This record gives sequence, C-alpha cells and structure tokens, in this order.
Amino acid sequence: TYVVTDNCIACKYTDCVEVCPVDCFYEGENMLVIHPDECIDCGVCEPECPADAIRPDTEPAMEGWVEFNRKYSEHW
Ligand code: SF4
Repeated sequence: TYVVTDNCIACKYTDCVEVCPVDCFYEGENMLVIHPDECIDCGVCEPECPADAIRPDTEPAMEGWVEFNRKYSEHW
C-alpha cells in the first residue's frame, strides 16, 4: 500500500485524489490519507504529489504512517 506522510500537512493540491483509480483517498484532520486496504498499490499517485508526501509502505519506518492512514480513513 501507499501512505500519505507529513509533507501533506496543509497541502492544497489534490492531484493525487484525481488520479487514484479506486478513490481511496480520504480527508484526515489536516492532511489527506490513503485507506491501506483499498489502495491497490498502483503507484499512480506518487509522482503526482508536488510535496513528495506519498510513499510506498515498503520504505523504512513506514509502519506508523500505515496505522495513521488507516485510523483517519476509517471515519468514513
Ligand atoms: Fe490510489 Fe494507486 Fe495511489 Fe493506491 S497507489 S492511493 S490505488 S493511486
């Protein structure tokens, strides 16, 4: 899965939301999040993010971000 990280905070771009084929972006408190179970790992959103906030969870130290993304996408 891909996750949104803190570079997204207060970002006003939604290019990622527009390209996601499965609409798995959700609005968190002050940043967007990706629902980790809905993301199909296509990677299309990553290069669209001007803040470089979207990272694959295979990178080091991403576990906390996966849980954060899950937490804020399950309000819906
Ligand atoms: Fe959506 Fe693909 Fe990005 Fe996952 S990797 S959030 S499915 S655009």
